[in-house]
Parts: sequence; structure tokens; C-alpha cells
Amino acid sequence: MTISITREYNPVSSAVAACIDALPLLSVALPFRFDNGSTITGLETSCTSCGKLLTSTSMKGKFELLADGTAASLNAYGICYDCRTITLIEAKFHDDGTALFKGPKGWIKCRWKERRPEGFQEAAARFIRLRWQQTLPPFLVFGAALVWFLVQS
Ligand SMILES: [Zn+2]
Repeated sequence: MTISITREYNPVSSAVAACIDALPLLSVALPFRFDNGSTITGLETSCTSCGKLLTSTSMKGKFELLADGTAASLNAYGICYDCRTITLIEAKFHDDGTALFKGPKGWIKCRWKERRPEGFQEAAARFIRLRWQQTLPPFLVFGAALVWFLVQS
């Protein structure tokens, strides 16, 4: 798989794009299971440019276990092939159901959700378009609209 980069539309250098391309697909890391049985079964985010839904098969990156396996950090890139935007995803998941997402103004704490609320994706995409893109480089932005699915066993 190759990430096509057009200088005119995207400030990401080909060297950076090659590094991102070399990362594993996030879908191979799922389901991600903590020692206590909590399992992340799926991840979704929306493209910060066009709002397209990106699933783990459109994300490159991996989990790394922290704190004796009770937490995991996620560094990933959501790749939208439609508008050639790379959405940065940085998060820390804890096995107690809390998570931290890195947004443009710092870390945002929230809880795991079992299901995506109706209309969430649209609202999140709209919010990002309205508020965040004005203050960030247009084609490499943080994707704090990450949604994940959890099965508590
Ligand atoms: Zn897009």
C-alpha cells in the first residue's frame, strides 16, 4: 500500500508518509485485551478534513502496554484516501474504563463507551470542521473524535 502525497494539498513529507506507511494496520492489533478481561474490539474516528468514517482498517499504528498491563497507549494515524488527510490519534486506555485523548489543547479524559451514540460521528465531524481546523495545520490534525468499542467480559 502506498500513500499518495500531493505537495499542493498536503504538508506531510514523503519521508514521514513512508514511516507511517511502514506501521502495521491497527486492525491486526484488535481485539486488544487487558489482563482483567476488558477488551477493545473496535476503533473508529472521523477524517478531520472531510468527516469520512475511518475504521481500524484505515489506521496505522499500535498499542503499547504501560503500567504492568493495566494501561495501553495508542499512537496511530487515520488515513483518509478520499481527501488524502492523515489524522493523528494519540490516546491512553486504562483497564478501568477510562481513557485519555490528546486534543489540540491537551489531554481529554473520558470513559469507554460500549456503543457509538446515534449521530455522534456527524456531530464530531462538524465540531472539528468548525472549531479545530481553524487552529491547526489543515492536513495533519489530532483526531480526538476517536470512538472505540468495548466488550467487558
Ligand atoms: Zn478525508
